[in-house]
Amino acid sequence: MKAGAIAHLSGAGVAVEVVRETGSTNADLLARAATLGANLLLVAERQTAGRGRAGRSWLSAEGGSLTFSLAWKFNAPLHALAGLPLAVGVALAEALAALDVTVQLKWPNDLLKDGAKLAGVLIETQGAGPGAIWAVIGVGLNLTLPDELELRIGSPAASAPWLANMDRDALMAALLAHLAASLRQFEQAGFAAFSARWNRLHAWQGCPVAVIDRGLTLHEGVAAGVDDGGALLLDGAAGRIAVTAGDVSLRMREG
Ligand code: ATP
Repeated sequence: MKAGAIAHLSGAGVAVEVVRETGSTNADLLARAATLGANLLLVAERQTAGRGRAGRSWLSAEGGSLTFSLAWKFNAPLHALAGLPLAVGVALAEALAALDVTVQLKWPNDLLKDGAKLAGVLIETQGAGPGAIWAVIGVGLNLTLPDELELRIGSPAASAPWLANMDRDALMAALLAHLAASLRQFEQAGFAAFSARWNRLHAWQGCPVAVIDRGLTLHEGVAAGVDDGGALLLDGAAGRIAVTAGDVSLRMREG
């Protein structure tokens, strides 16, 4: 892949670097955050130690995935970034829809295709001086899914062969353009500008779900979308509650 082509095709005004191989693009950008001048996209053609939330792994196959991280500086306190992972999900889903790939969103941070995980988002942050913060937005997107990879993942995963046939630089540029535009919108208006869009893309709307933390069920109820802060609304026995993300996972309940 070519950094210059991605930057040019995206028109996003974001610097781009491409590396042949690295452990984790999120780890690389976090390590460099103190010396970063401007927002930067780092793309890895092969990522060997991709990260998920809570120490989980994001697995990928060379040539079969898109793995990248975008370091974006926000002039805002950390709490203003609540909802950012969901806004990124909306941006990616809308970018993919424009490429004729239909996805839905699973709270808080997954893109599903036909009910299985097509892409994951991991956001990590670091202080950037008074009143500012670096958000490192990591994305892993499956293009093809070799049997060997699917076996290693061990949970339902999806791929997008249609995108695998696209020029890789043009695909990355399209995602970057949507992401950058959405992040600028998030800076201006926060997650409130995304909540209705998120709810339209919600995979599990009206479904019985459980919120799980390290194997323990914290809440059960019917998923009713998200509020303007990005919290999941859950209709349970005691009425409606709003669940914030933390490291909890969402599971569909039977029947
Ligand atoms: P949960 O799936 O429990 O809700 P999560 O959605 O937050 O957690 P992440 O931490 O974002 O999951 O991603 C890591 C998880 O995603 C791994 O534990 C694995 O189950 C799954 N996974 C890893 N690599 C892939 C991949 N290439 N495609 C689809 N799923 C993957």
